[in-house]
Amino acid sequence: MAEHDQNQSNEAPEKPEPENPPERMFYVMPDMAQMLSEELVRSFGQPRSSGWSKLRDEWIKDYPQCAVCGTKNGCVPHHVEPFHVNPALELDRNNLITLCPPHHLLIGHLMNWASYNSYVRHDANYWLSKIARRPQHDIRLPEGPSS
Ligand SMILES: [Zn+2]
Repeated sequence: MAEHDQNQSNEAPEKPEPENPPERMFYVMPDMAQMLSEELVRSFGQPRSSGWSKLRDEWIKDYPQCAVCGTKNGCVPHHVEPFHVNPALELDRNNLITLCPPHHLLIGHLMNWASYNSYVRHDANYWLSKIARRPQHDIRLPEGPSS
């Protein structure tokens, strides 16, 4: 907890820290939504190629699933080597990986759109494999008084 607190701003928290993780999720989600919308306006000053939107659509048709979790919801092609670092690779299919919105931010950009993850393919494979091998348990809900 102490380490986590050091990353907070100096402003006094408006509310006490939630006690259980599910409630904490609701504090995180608005920030994530804000960061997702920021992606739409960020360009790092580099103009997009006229071929990008066509390639983006073709890529998602060919590779519709998030490389981390497998969902098809809202997926986008992510540049492994960032567009603003190497514009020459913008339209290079070998530089793309499909990510869903939350994993684009988390695995592709390490929770900051101004950053990137050089190991995005490795990390995506790691999590996809881990998710595929996750433990499964039959969950039996209480049925009330035994009959
Ligand atoms: Zn995903």
